[in-house]
Amino acid sequence: MSKTLPVQKNDIIDIIFEDLTHEGSGVAKVDGYPLFIPNGLPGEKATVKVIKTNKNYGFGRLVEIKERSPYRVEAPCLIYKECGGCQLQHLSYEGQLKMKHKHVMDVLERIGKINTTVHPTLGMEDPWRYRNKSQVPIGEQEGGLIGGFYQQRSHQIINMEQCLIQQEENDYVVNTVKDICSKYGVRAYDEARHKGDLRHIMVRRGAITKEVMIVLITRTQDIPNRKAIVDEIVEKVPNIKSIIHNVNNKKTNVIMGEITRVLWGEETITDYIGDVKFAISARSFYQVNPEQTKVLYEKALEYADLNGEEKVIDAYCGIGTISLFLAKKARQVFGVEIVPQAIEDARKNALINDIHNVEFAVGEAEVVIPNWYKAGNEADVLVVDPPRKGCDEALLQTILDMKPRKVVYVSCNPATLARDLRVLEDGGYKTEEVQPVDMFPQTTHVEAVARLSLV
Ligand code: SAH
Repeated sequence: MSKTLPVQKNDIIDIIFEDLTHEGSGVAKVDGYPLFIPNGLPGEKATVKVIKTNKNYGFGRLVEIKERSPYRVEAPCLIYKECGGCQLQHLSYEGQLKMKHKHVMDVLERIGKINTTVHPTLGMEDPWRYRNKSQVPIGEQEGGLIGGFYQQRSHQIINMEQCLIQQEENDYVVNTVKDICSKYGVRAYDEARHKGDLRHIMVRRGAITKEVMIVLITRTQDIPNRKAIVDEIVEKVPNIKSIIHNVNNKKTNVIMGEITRVLWGEETITDYIGDVKFAISARSFYQVNPEQTKVLYEKALEYADLNGEEKVIDAYCGIGTISLFLAKKARQVFGVEIVPQAIEDARKNALINDIHNVEFAVGEAEVVIPNWYKAGNEADVLVVDPPRKGCDEALLQTILDMKPRKVVYVSCNPATLARDLRVLEDGGYKTEEVQPVDMFPQTTHVEAVARLSLV
């Protein structure tokens, strides 16, 4: 059967890259047969070696670039290739923004058959050192702890001293905590044998307040030499506000477990987006790029176009970030979120900002909102910001029944955005415009906000 393929394993051929995949691989076609080749950029001519062929597509390796893309740059990170956390460092930032714009347009068109205006991606002035949260898996090397990232396609941990998309202070905090835990004999979690203590170190830092939270995630109920470790962290980490212990004794890729306790300081740290203050606890979702979060929320608010009279629903509200932005301009906001701790934070956040026209409910958006509607409630504007898998069908159906005048869809996955927009368009909405916002420079992730109105 493989004889019918236009290329064979080990062939060395000349190609032209046409596209870039979500993983950041270049795509070239040989008689319509796609080859995926890491590190190739659209427009480049190259010699490649075919390393694997499947029925419908194959993989290759770059041998030589014959004609370079004008957007090709040298990746500044020394561990870029091994890490896999970033996929686009070899593409200039201008090239990244263009690629993300094209990706959103292509996916909306191909998956959703959506015909709308997609604006150029809103990017950062300085697209480095933006992340407020660092989360590193822990391993061991010659008796000491190492922490960094899993080597691509493996569970081998590689040590990392710095990460160029992380706020610099977070690198220092992670390294310091690693050293302190090593010094007091903490053993790394051994995934294969399900033994050892420390699985992950998580650090979150308020970009404006500078407050630091450290979360130690262990398999074991206790941390050896806990008191000495905590004392030394408090001594060495500037602006430390909260040290949290989370226990995860399951064999799982999920990072945090069910038990969370405060070892030192507060249960939350605070930060600001614009002039709204947020308390954030260990288990709550909080956007990782604070600078661009402001851009994203302002766009969502602009698209909601509120005049102070509306009833607004914020589905998938997390700690109430978008809800509180909306509440300043609306009559009433109703936020729904599945993580109970996030809703606790959301209620606290309403209080600390002296915002009283907002109510929060814990539960699945696709259950809570239909029930709320059945009880006779309606909304003029509905905002959704679902996780990657998009909105549940039951929620989309309730939107079509309730018919809010406007829907603002904040999405971290263009594919499910396209799918859901198609359902909403078939039910009577029109996608007026879409704004991609670059929340994750150097990576292929794309965030986009869509504005829909009832026609
Ligand atoms: N709008 C918030 C959170 C967006 S992330 C912000 O910008 O910060 C998506 C949120 O949806 C997460 O907080 C997640 O816990 C929540 N979530 C996931 N599935 C859900 C569901 N079925 N119903 C309600 N919330 C859900």
